[in-house]
Amino acid sequence: MAKLTSWVDVSGDSDFSIYNIPFGIFSNNSTTPRVGTAIGDQILDLAAVAKLGHFDDLNMDKNVFSRPVLNDFIALGKPATKRVRKRIQKLLSDKKSPLIEKPRIFIPRQKGKMHMPVSVGDYTDFYSSIEHATNVGKMFRDPENALLPNWRHIPVGYHGRASSIVIDGTPIYRPKGQVLPKGADDPQFKATERLDFELEMGFIIGKNSQLGTPVTTDRAEDYIFGLVLFNDWSARDIQKWEYIPLGPFLGKNFASAVSPWVVTLEALEEFKVYGPKQTPKVLPYLRFKGPKNYNLHLEVAIKPQGGKETIISRSNFKYMYWNMCQQLAHHTCNGCDVKVGDIMASGTISGNEATSFGSMLELAWAGTRPLTLDDGSTRIFVNDNDTVTLRGYGEKNGTRVGFGKVSNKIKPAR
Ligand code: CA
Repeated sequence: MAKLTSWVDVSGDSDFSIYNIPFGIFSNNSTTPRVGTAIGDQILDLAAVAKLGHFDDLNMDKNVFSRPVLNDFIALGKPATKRVRKRIQKLLSDKKSPLIEKPRIFIPRQKGKMHMPVSVGDYTDFYSSIEHATNVGKMFRDPENALLPNWRHIPVGYHGRASSIVIDGTPIYRPKGQVLPKGADDPQFKATERLDFELEMGFIIGKNSQLGTPVTTDRAEDYIFGLVLFNDWSARDIQKWEYIPLGPFLGKNFASAVSPWVVTLEALEEFKVYGPKQTPKVLPYLRFKGPKNYNLHLEVAIKPQGGKETIISRSNFKYMYWNMCQQLAHHTCNGCDVKVGDIMASGTISGNEATSFGSMLELAWAGTRPLTLDDGSTRIFVNDNDTVTLRGYGEKNGTRVGFGKVSNKIKPAR
């Protein structure tokens, strides 16, 4: 990779280095929601860059930068979006860049309001961490046979709900629902007492596939625009009572939250690694060539009301048993089509140490091992007024590419 430096001030620990160039939707007092990129502590207004003519020779519809979601930009296709990213990199690294003279097209990130990056058509959630699936199997079923027989053959997933996917900063109201209290014969309707986060990554579909035509693992990356942090909020007591026989429903669909900046697959190329060995050998349509996992450091923090945050988990996206190419190949193997803006989430990303588990359910082992926060208070699940934050980044040879954060505060049930 060619060594690049930006003339914009970027600190060494910034997620938004010149190697990143993510895409997001921002607004401020003087602009409507539109497409921007993040560089250091700044947002670069790409609608303004387009207006100045810097994309004129790229032979594309420049109006896509003025839209309130990324869908039309993404739909231009990878050849176009890659060229835009390269052009922005050049404009931000060139010592004689014409943008140096245009400080007003930069907005401090603290002053920009971020919006949902895409209009999400469909949302699918996988269950692709073997450590997570094993932990849940041990707690809820059989400690000896924790994994169900299909798990090593199928990237298990379910269709979620797109309407309740929200952006970083959105408050989450504690959901109510039916639960079966321990030892009781009959269910009750009440606010969940087992509110949980799930540390996940989500990938955003970058190209429509055709109904009836599978996307192979070889071609899957053409259909993936980029990734976001994904917190799949869950209510364990509601989930436990409702999920047999048809799976997750109201224990899941009250909210999932994403980070605002979509980091492209191109920006993550440097962090590719091989995933865990898959045994037994998977069916031919799930086989793939080359490294398809990503070495991305992930962490979860809880901040009580008025207090300091405590990091309660450190995990890594590289632990995933099933990779995104396999997930997409499986999702479409029956001919199911995918559309630009769809989100596919990884499933909870747990490592094999107790400090790397990706949910409270696992960290506090179904309530049996309370976690102690730095302020001395304990948690078995998430309390009202707690703020939960996910962060993630890759770092290699002094190059850092990150996602920023997705953070939500829990409000009492309504
Ligand atoms: Ca999930």
